[in-house]
Amino acid sequence: MKRSFKTLLSQFCSLTLSEEEAEQHWYSILSHQKQLEEALSRPVGFTVALADYFMNRVRKIRGPVLIERDQYRRTQDCAIRDSLTGLYNRRFLKDYLEKEFDKSRRYPLAFSLLFLDVDHFKRLNDKWGHLVGDRVLQRIAKILSCYSRGADLVARFGGEEFVVVMSQTLGRVAMEVADRLRVHIKTQEFLIPGSKEIVHVTVSGGIATCPSDALDADELLRQADEALYMAKEEGRNRIIHHRDIPQKTHRCVNM
Ligand code: GH3
Ligand code: MG
Ligand code: MG
Repeated sequence: MKRSFKTLLSQFCSLTLSEEEAEQHWYSILSHQKQLEEALSRPVGFTVALADYFMNRVRKIRGPVLIERDQYRRTQDCAIRDSLTGLYNRRFLKDYLEKEFDKSRRYPLAFSLLFLDVDHFKRLNDKWGHLVGDRVLQRIAKILSCYSRGADLVARFGGEEFVVVMSQTLGRVAMEVADRLRVHIKTQEFLIPGSKEIVHVTVSGGIATCPSDALDADELLRQADEALYMAKEEGRNRIIHHRDIPQKTHRCVNM
């Protein structure tokens, strides 16, 4: 697999560079590494050469910090993942949607967004406590990750709300995928710790499709949320596509 210079450099530093800039810097760092080795008469690692190059040669980095790669990755992960479920968080979802819309403007690509909300989740919390509620959210997150398709993105929007972005998927197929997810969740048995009780939960969902329903991320979310609202109104435990709403109700979702 061909790796871009931009990707290669991003493994070493956080500079945002174009592919051309990254290529130029990459070769300059290699020659800087050779010069340092000659001047010091000893081997010089690539990372040391890169730090010296960006700090003292081109002065693009002023205050670097040293951090182990694994720890850096963990820190990066924390910024984009929800700590309870491990799913992508709302901030990551927003960036992702913006990129998807950019792509859909350049190529004729459709994608759908499913907005899912756990039904009567407050009752479950009130009856069994927040810790049980948390476990249920974790299990739902796992189900969504396991049963959504590889190219789909699953995120926790907040509270008991989840979003699945289905790439290259039009309304009818999105409805089928979403309904499969709904059934998987509905048939799960949640065993209450310390008791023999088994609890079932259901979810309601709203779908909107780009570009037929919306031309930007906020609008797509708003349309999916309207469809979700309708699913709740019609009795919960169902998925509704935005295009099937007879008369539009107005709801507002802000990212
Ligand atoms: P509906 O079917 O209309 O969606 O009803 P609902 O009870 O699910 O909705 P409501 O908005 O009334 O309640 C959502 C509850 O979700 C309230 C809030 O305390 C709970 N909640 C939000 N985030 C978390 C969380 O991280 N853990 C737990 N355990 N509960 C949470
Ligand atoms: Mg909710
Ligand atoms: Mg709810």
